[in-house]
Formats: sequence, C-alpha cells, structure tokens
Amino acid sequence: MKVTFYGGARTVTGSKHLLEVNGTKILLECGLFQGRREEARRRNREFPFTTLAVDAVILSHAHIDHSGALPALVRAGYEGPIYCTRATADLLSVLLRDSAEIHERDIYLVNKHRPAGTPEIEPLYTLKDVARTLPLLAGMEYGEQFKIANDVNVIFREAGHILGSAQVQLNINDGSGPGTVFRLGFTGDLGRDHLPILRDPYQMDGLDALIMESTYGDRLHERGEDLKSRLAAVVERTVERGGRIIIPAFAVGRTQRVVYLLHQLFNEGRLPTVPIYVDSPMASEATEVYRRHPDCFDAEAYRLQEEGDILGFRRLRYVGSVEESKRLNEMRVPCIIISASGMAEAGRILHHLIHGVEDARNTILIVGYCAPYTLGRRLMERQPVIRIFGREYRLRAEVEHIGGLSTHADRDDLLGYMRGMSSPPRTVYIVHGDEPQSLAFAGHLRGQGFNGVQVPRKGQTFDLLTGAPDGLPTEEPAGE
Ligand SMILES: [Zn+2]
Ligand SMILES: [Zn+2]
Repeated sequence: MKVTFYGGARTVTGSKHLLEVNGTKILLECGLFQGRREEARRRNREFPFTTLAVDAVILSHAHIDHSGALPALVRAGYEGPIYCTRATADLLSVLLRDSAEIHERDIYLVNKHRPAGTPEIEPLYTLKDVARTLPLLAGMEYGEQFKIANDVNVIFREAGHILGSAQVQLNINDGSGPGTVFRLGFTGDLGRDHLPILRDPYQMDGLDALIMESTYGDRLHERGEDLKSRLAAVVERTVERGGRIIIPAFAVGRTQRVVYLLHQLFNEGRLPTVPIYVDSPMASEATEVYRRHPDCFDAEAYRLQEEGDILGFRRLRYVGSVEESKRLNEMRVPCIIISASGMAEAGRILHHLIHGVEDARNTILIVGYCAPYTLGRRLMERQPVIRIFGREYRLRAEVEHIGGLSTHADRDDLLGYMRGMSSPPRTVYIVHGDEPQSLAFAGHLRGQGFNGVQVPRKGQTFDLLTGAPDGLPTEEPAGE
C-alpha cells in the first residue's frame, strides 16, 4: 500500500495523489496545474504516471485545481469511473465546459500569432473531451459507504467549502488479517463553520493516516466582523450619492454567497430600493445547480429555501444576453452589479469597470482574494490610473474590500480540526499549500505534539502502513 504525491505537493494547484492498494490504482483528485503559461502547458499535458493503468478516480470537489485535468486524463485514454458527490458532478458540467472554452480560445490565439512555419499547437482539451468525461462521473450521496475495488470502500463527508465539497474516507483492507481495515482520510479543501448556505465541515476521527490541505496553514482570516452590516453600509452610502455598486465575484461559490447575503438584507428591510443584477452566464448556470441541491444546504438556508428561492428575489435579475449586459451601462439610476471574473481579469466585469471606475459616486466592492498583478489587486491598491483592454482610466470610484468571505479554513480552524480528533492519525501528510504555508503548518502540528507529520515533495512516494518515504528524506532542515 503506497501513495505518491504528483501534484498539490508544496503548491496549491494540480492536486493529484495516486494510491496503490493490492494492485489497484486509485487517483485522488485530477487538478489543473496553474502558473506560468509555458510551464503550466507542459505540466498539464504530461501525466507522470500511466493513465491507462488508473482503475478509479475520486474527486473531493469541483474547483479546477482539483478537477480541471480530468478531460486531459480522458483524452489520454482513461475510461474508468470518476467518483464524486452528486452536486459536484452537476457543478463539473458547468466548470469543465468553461475550462475547455478557455483552453480552446487560448490556443487559438497562440496559433494565430505563431511564427510562420512552426506547427499548430493543440489545446489541452476541447468541449468534445469534456463531453466524453461527464458520463464517467458517478455522483454519490454523503455518508453512504460504496465499494470502488475489492479491498477499498469509500465514504464522502461534508467539507463545508463549496456546494458538493467532500472529505473522503477510504476503508482499505490491508491484507494483514481478516477484517483488518486501514482508514485513510483526505480533507480535500476544508471550509469553515458558520458559512452562509453551507453545512459545517464534518469532523473525521479514528483514522490511521490523513492527507490534509494547508492553503492557509499559517494565516488567520478576519474574525468577528459582521459581513452583512458592512455590506449594507457600502450599499447605503453608494446609493445615497447616486452611484452603482460593482462587485467582481467568482461565478461559483462567491456570487451565490453575496446574493444570499443581499437577499437576507432585503428580507430584513435593510437594503435600499435598487435593482440587483448578476451578469455572468456561468454564475447563472452555477446558481441553477445550487437550486437543484437544497440537500446540501445548512439548516437555515434549507428553511429559507422552503419559503422561496434563496438565490433569487424580485429585486434581483440574472442577466443573459450580451445586449442586456451592455444596456446596464446606460442605466442612470443606482444599482448593484455582480459579475465575473473574481479577480477582474476577464469576463463581463471588465465592461462594467470601464463604464464605472471614473465616476466618484460608484463603489467597486472586492469580496475575494486577488492575486498580485491582477486588475482586482490594482484596484485594491487604489492605483490612480488603471489599464483595461489597453486603454487608461482614472480610478475615481471608491474601492471597498470585505474580507472574511473566504471558504477556506485558516490556521486555527485547521489546528482545531486536528485537536477535535479523539485519536490522532499515525501519519499526517500536509498537501495543497504554498511551500511556506505547508511547512509552517507542519511546524504548528509538531509543536502541538502531533507525530508523523510529513510534507511530501512532488513525486515522492510513501508506504501507507508505516508512513515511511522511499527515496528522498522529507525531514526539514533545522529552523523550519
Ligand atoms: Zn477548493
Ligand atoms: Zn483547492
């Protein structure tokens, strides 16, 4: 029994962990590697293992860094089952099609501008590959054990991160005697308690080994702030001066959380009378998936859903056509526009920003993480002049940032999760974090008395029973 960490090891993208159990090969996650273009292209094309030898794939959730290489795996010949929750399967049909379109457009431009005489490059995958991938998805229920191989049973548990997100428990017959079961846990991406719409993460326990994420292994989120009140205040003062509120938001997850909060403010009579528009076709499709899965909601959202649609109310409109989207910019009354992408790098949000940034009455409300050098980050930094589509605009609008909407556990959440176990696992593999975050989190765990903490390097294999690495020692140099 062994596990090899091919991606998401000392980095956050490209998650791929290959389990080998009594001759069966199980791939845990098949994430897209994201980073510098050339390197990303190369790493996403080449699988570091024989794709045809994989017997089954298990996915924790729909985010592209966990699922986005699936169509490439299928293009490389994989035809086996892909196990995930039912909601994840539904979200994947939205996310993978969008991902294929991005790859096709990206390669079209590369080919168009390639030097004469050089061969055309093929996209990583196309909509056709996605169409062959979707029928392989096997949507399962939370909490129900199912068999994926002779010696391997699996149970999905709530992860509380996005709709359909799951932690994975594998019960493996380790062959050391009749009925002996090795329990391997995988957190996927862990969410946080009390997030709107979603249930709180399930506490796994009684594990022999755990593969654990560490995205925020050394960071703390803002706490105790009343998100709804801050949101209400931003809307109120913008509307008072006759402006519009422009919110760049990720189409899946973030948009639905903002809509849900606005809906609650509306019900409580705390929202000024202004129209609200969600202007992102992908967000509308993802919202449809949310609506189909009240089974994944927490008690509050479920109760509200019984009374009516929690992601739609009479003040809110999902915008479809490009024409309607353009008409929003001709409106002369205050309104709220939520549009993708979240970091304002692409999508319809750019047009709303072009028409909105130079007006001091408007507010640009940032509700998510914006990576360095993205337009979202430059707005947050209040750069006086910003460029969109090669043209310069003066930033006169107010820019406001509401943190605390993150759906990732932070350092204290992750440590609390580990302390919540009555019997700690013998080995903990720390994955899915930038290297400093993963190493720091491993240090925090060791400091709290946890043994067998490993931070795998890319491509490193471990014996699951003993937790011992083959090859490279993983012990960190002193001081880390
Ligand atoms: Zn995620
Ligand atoms: Zn992730």
